[in-house]
Amino acid sequence: MATLVLPQNWSSTLRPVKTRVRSTTVCSVSIANANPNVRNADIVIVGAGVAGLATAVALQRVGIESLVLEQAESLRTGGTSLTFFKNGWKVLDAIGVGAQLRSQFLEIQGIVVKSEDGRELRSFKFEDEDPSQEVRAVERRILLETLANQLPSNAISFSSKLKDIETSESGDTILRLVDDSQISCKIVIACDGLRSPVAKWMGFPDPRYVGHCAFRGLGYYPNGQPFELKVTYVYGKGVRAAYVPVSPTKVYWFVCFNSPSPGPKITDPSMLRQETERLVKNWPPELLNIIKSSPDDTIIRTPLVDRWLWPGISPSASKGKVVLVGDAWHPMTPNLGQGACCALEDAVVLTRKLAEAIKLGTSTVEDAFRSYESERWARVFPITVRANLVGAVLQVENSVVCSLRDNVLVPKLVKLGSMLEHTNFDFEPLQFEDAI
Ligand SMILES: Cc1cc2nc3c(=O)[nH]c(=O)nc-3n(C[C@H](O)[C@H](O)[C@H](O)COP(=O)(O)OP(=O)(O)OC[C@H]3O[C@@H](n4cnc5c(N)ncnc54)[C@H](O)[C@@H]3O)c2cc1C
Repeated sequence: MATLVLPQNWSSTLRPVKTRVRSTTVCSVSIANANPNVRNADIVIVGAGVAGLATAVALQRVGIESLVLEQAESLRTGGTSLTFFKNGWKVLDAIGVGAQLRSQFLEIQGIVVKSEDGRELRSFKFEDEDPSQEVRAVERRILLETLANQLPSNAISFSSKLKDIETSESGDTILRLVDDSQISCKIVIACDGLRSPVAKWMGFPDPRYVGHCAFRGLGYYPNGQPFELKVTYVYGKGVRAAYVPVSPTKVYWFVCFNSPSPGPKITDPSMLRQETERLVKNWPPELLNIIKSSPDDTIIRTPLVDRWLWPGISPSASKGKVVLVGDAWHPMTPNLGQGACCALEDAVVLTRKLAEAIKLGTSTVEDAFRSYESERWARVFPITVRANLVGAVLQVENSVVCSLRDNVLVPKLVKLGSMLEHTNFDFEPLQFEDAI
């Protein structure tokens, strides 16, 4: 049975990380070394976003500890919502947080598509066309807190920004943080998002700007929001918007617009609000109402990017015992609402394979990472391409093409089942301790 070898000078008196949930623990983290500036750790996850925290929770469920490094001082508390489809919910259930999240967010019943003048082009009900579908918009802040609460209190090391990474002569990976401290690790799971320094070290180029940006926000209705339980899309020429109820008092919205360049970063809330309102000023009034109801700190503007993982051209998702997960590996545009759903999928697939290598000894860690890559590539590459193409069609500016979209494509040709077919996803169960 292959297992991780603990550093010889590991000492349980030196800040060990313990799991609250399972007694089986095959990995440890400690400050130990002749050099007090160097910590040893068996498994380090870089990034406490959706991918990093879901991976840490999934590993914990199979009895494997990890240390999560996060550059920020705390979990990301701002931001808006993420729409999760049935594939995301399946993973959230598998890692034990589905029920807790479901109780806080409304289940969406269908989709309505409107033109910018408010005309309804099409309406779908999930129960008619895909009864197994489950759609809810989840506040990112609550998602991250819920995941983090599953972990031991010292499992996340905040203010720990990775500066660079190298492989030592012994084969361990050395992570150097901006405060110049170092961590010597057996395994690194890089969940450090779009601008991942680990992906850069592995030879990946920066994600590519796709020609449109999105404003997002979260409308707040303290006395109750009045919207039906549907995602409403509004299509214009080179601009589109959507809104969806999140909870009894909150409604998530976005406005996506074409722009030849990502433009400067705007942080002034009044400018963000003005820009958004200008784009949709003559659109259905409820959209403007939701934007006006959004607190300043929820409105953000994001240039949309992706990276196509061309076979034979893109670097591998792993290098030795270092592997990429989520946006760090496969950034995709949000046109299918799948970036975070796929990051969750990555987390359970990787965990299962890593647990087989560490606990069952049926493969090496390197083989487990290669197997993870080939299984996940076949899933995420087509979704990344599809999301990009959907964005290109929906952001079209040409009046004739927009008219065909609004009068033929959407009302007559689109089928909900095939439109959401990519949300069908199965994975092997995480719980396999009987087999050990
Ligand atoms: C406009 C928009 C709408 C979206 N809507 C949806 C949706 O509806 N549904 C959906 O499934 N997906 C959606 N997504 C995609 C989703 O947001 C991402 O796919 C998801 O957040 C990826 O999670 P991640 O953990 O890989 O990366 P992130 O969430 O970016 O987390 C990365 C973490 O790593 C940390 N980090 C970065 N660098 C370092 C470092 N050097 N050292 C230490 N820590 C570091 C960061 O601080 C951060 O906490 C949307 C994206 C956009 C842009």
